[in-house]
Amino acid sequence: MSIQTPSKFVAAGLAAAMISGCGTNILSRNEEIQVGREGSRGLESKYRLSTNQSDIALVNNIGNRIVTANNLTEWPWTFKVIDDPTVNAVSLPGGPVYVFRGLLDALGRNESELAGVIAHEIAHIEKRHAAKQYSSQVITMGGIQVLTGGDTRTVVQLANMLLQLEYSRGDEYDADTTGIGYMYRAGFDPWGLVRVFEKLQRLNNEGQGNVVTNVLRTHPLTRDRIERAKREIERITQAIDRDREALEMIDSE
Ligand SMILES: [Zn+2]
Repeated sequence: MSIQTPSKFVAAGLAAAMISGCGTNILSRNEEIQVGREGSRGLESKYRLSTNQSDIALVNNIGNRIVTANNLTEWPWTFKVIDDPTVNAVSLPGGPVYVFRGLLDALGRNESELAGVIAHEIAHIEKRHAAKQYSSQVITMGGIQVLTGGDTRTVVQLANMLLQLEYSRGDEYDADTTGIGYMYRAGFDPWGLVRVFEKLQRLNNEGQGNVVTNVLRTHPLTRDRIERAKREIERITQAIDRDREALEMIDSE
């Protein structure tokens, strides 16, 4: 596949975004996928990928199960494990999801807890949150090139930039809610998400905040957010159950 030349500037998008205010995604779906691919190359030259087959299989099985059960066919999804002790998980625009070995260790490779994290990352991609943040960063920097042209140094810079993006509270809540529905429809226990939150909070309170700084900075965790997730689990699981019962009634008629 040919690497796109660095000719894409965002002047037109910039004007459009300024008119409509912040939080606008100026990337097309295709550009979003390309930005994610370049970001992936940068990330994978910065970090080593895991070769642990059981970890790779675990993360892929959970990711693919969520994608299939929720019919998320719009993006070229990839699920990879980074061989690094940091407690973190990241998603890039357009499909790539990475789980750090440190997170697998912290969660004891618990399936429903990992599903909570992966479903949340999938929701950020599906709802195009990262692309929106990336767009606003591009706009802030005065219309830098959307794509790097594939040079190794610049794809690493792009990866660093994508990893530093901070989501708004609204986007976090949206990813929590959406992710809870994804988990439940894929047959995972949605309370796994709450258990992850509580574990991360405990690690942080125990003074191991340095190991979880990344995940808490890009996805800030507050008591309100945890309480909200609990209420959302009750609400969403009941709604999905009602839909299922209604379908069963129709099927049995
Ligand atoms: Zn998040």
